Amino acid sequence: MSHLEVVDRSFEQLIIGWAQLECIFDAGRWTEGPVYFPDADQLIFSDIPNNRLMRWTPDGHIGVYRQPSGFTNGNTRDLMGRLISCQHGTRSVVRTELDGTLTTLADSYEGKRLNAPNDVVVRSDGTVWFTDPTYGILTDYEGNRAEPEQDGCYVYRIDPITGRIDRVADGFQKPNGLAFSVDESVLYVADSGVTHTPGGNHHIRRFEVQSDGSLQGGAVLMDVQRFPDGFRVDEFDNIWTSAGDGVHCYTPDGTLLGKVLVPEGVANLVFGGARKNRLFITATSSVFSIYVAARGAGHPVLTAP
Ligand code: MG
Repeated sequence: MSHLEVVDRSFEQLIIGWAQLECIFDAGRWTEGPVYFPDADQLIFSDIPNNRLMRWTPDGHIGVYRQPSGFTNGNTRDLMGRLISCQHGTRSVVRTELDGTLTTLADSYEGKRLNAPNDVVVRSDGTVWFTDPTYGILTDYEGNRAEPEQDGCYVYRIDPITGRIDRVADGFQKPNGLAFSVDESVLYVADSGVTHTPGGNHHIRRFEVQSDGSLQGGAVLMDVQRFPDGFRVDEFDNIWTSAGDGVHCYTPDGTLLGKVLVPEGVANLVFGGARKNRLFITATSSVFSIYVAARGAGHPVLTAP
């Protein structure tokens, strides 16, 4: 059975029609935060309620990378290849140094604790951008239940050199996944507010990044079926987002091109493999993988000799 659904014929150029959807892990509770390390040829991902980070390699080996993980959710890498993680448990964004120690990059704003950083992305100038909804403090299931101290849910930017933290976007119910366009002139941010507000937001917004790093715009680009959580941008500026029945692929103007149908609820995805042409999809208790014809945007691609 094909797990690919073509909505617009141009989607056929982005997929491999006969590629299989493979399940590479099925023992999680709520998998999230996939990040690929091409240099080590390994996938790191979160299993939030089990309070652990997992490590998978293409030889099929899978094991615990870190436990407890501070109920880590979203992950990415910085320009030096260091792991950057959102921890629900400590309500912080942390960096794993090359010697394995953790450095806190952000845990408060204007003297008040953050809610529960959810997802994170690093820009090519080294700044670290993250969303801060309340999911991680609503219950003890994927963090520690607590009252929010912030007056809402925002997007923040960290300058890791100065340590300065700026609130850069508002108007969200539950800001969630985020990603830059290929040239980083646009920041997309998902709002999954419908999870806790009947009739609430289930869309991705589009912000223009100004030369001073501030954001303009923020109009809704498109509603996403059920709701969007994490998403990524490919080398052609298409947006591959988690959605109700799998991963949906949209053009930069918000036109749906096609779907990768996934049998469990999708939380996030990453373009991985040494060539960044293999989607890794975290989906509830499982992680799925499928080769595609597009490469992920962002970090350099290793080329086979
Ligand atoms: Mg998320």
